[in-house]
Amino acid sequence: MPSKELLKEYAKLAVKLGTNPKKGQYLVITAPVEAHEFVELCVKEAYDHGAGFVSVDWTDRVITRMNYERVDTEILKEVPDWRIAKIKNAIEKGYCTLHIDSPDPELLEGIDPNKIKEVQMESMKATKPYQYYSMNNIGQWSIVAYPNKRWAKKVFPDLDEDEAYEKIWEAILYTSRVFEGKDVVKEWEEHNKEMHRHSKILNDYAFEKLHFKNSLGTDLIVHLVDGHIWCGGDEKTPDDQIFNPNIPTEEVFTMPDHRAIDGTVVSTKPLSYSGKLISRFTLTFKDGKVIKAQADDNQETLDQILATDEGSKSLGEVALISYDSPISNSGILFYDTLFDENASCHLALGACYPTTIVGGEKMTTEELYAKGGNDSMNHVDFMFGSKDMSVIGITKDGREIEVFKDGNFCI
Ligand code: ZN
Ligand code: ZN
Repeated sequence: MPSKELLKEYAKLAVKLGTNPKKGQYLVITAPVEAHEFVELCVKEAYDHGAGFVSVDWTDRVITRMNYERVDTEILKEVPDWRIAKIKNAIEKGYCTLHIDSPDPELLEGIDPNKIKEVQMESMKATKPYQYYSMNNIGQWSIVAYPNKRWAKKVFPDLDEDEAYEKIWEAILYTSRVFEGKDVVKEWEEHNKEMHRHSKILNDYAFEKLHFKNSLGTDLIVHLVDGHIWCGGDEKTPDDQIFNPNIPTEEVFTMPDHRAIDGTVVSTKPLSYSGKLISRFTLTFKDGKVIKAQADDNQETLDQILATDEGSKSLGEVALISYDSPISNSGILFYDTLFDENASCHLALGACYPTTIVGGEKMTTEELYAKGGNDSMNHVDFMFGSKDMSVIGITKDGREIEVFKDGNFCI
């Protein structure tokens, strides 16, 4: 465990910079039970910061797995009315949210994939009407990680459990820019400045499409929607409340056109989805849709993602991250998207972020779709950056600009 001081800094990062509740605002925290000490610090930080009321939804990985093992699918997939009422109530109150994530990439290994699929489908369907609230940044939201020993052991298999746990704490704090004796607020201000600089350059070019290529076999052309916006670093709600959604974050990202993605992409880091791990996979796109998908293992999990709905076969996000970044330089494979996506260029199968197109927050799903913004119950990020990645940006008048050379930004 880190010192009490560092843990307090981490809570400050999660609440003050992460979610940043307004005076009197309602904050919902979801957290694993083992993080209770940290959660208490977060709640205190939130009240000190002016939050009106903090409500905590507790989760427990062991019980989640037990439920999959012991409870019938029919019962498990039921979405009770009170769960929806709770979401509606929080939206009426204009809530903000902090998700404390404790990854366990192989939590559901060995569980019938159909059971997982059925349960998750019902849950996604029931909550889809409320997805707009965070996807449009109407209320502030943020995600931070909290370690557990199973995850630690997966990341550092050669260390004993306690050592691995210490080590993963170090890695989380280091990549989140929480340093002993340094002010986390200042660290993040500087970091945000650098990400805004890259976004500005890319926005000024307003590329029509990006061409990705590397020696692994990726050769992919991704059209960007007209009026796309590159975002990165802190974001704003419609009433200008600033927040940092992903902690850590290194990415600048925008909206691909779901009608115009062509070629092949090879993943470069394992993808953890619903408790299963896919080591490596290749997707082939034609006219914006995946027409071929091949995984080295857990093929049925990849098929499950793609079969969720029509939008899961296309892309909602394209993100650029230099290969030479703190998370990537740490050399650690976290088996968790929150970290690994920040070590590598990535794409997301599924829904787009409406904030990545001019006026997107005010468009209906149909209007957005007509402009090329993808719609889906899913948003699954996968990593495909490599140290030899080349990215060429092609402008509307046909100019070719080198954006990435040998894995890194060169603009
Ligand atoms: Zn992203
Ligand atoms: Zn994403």
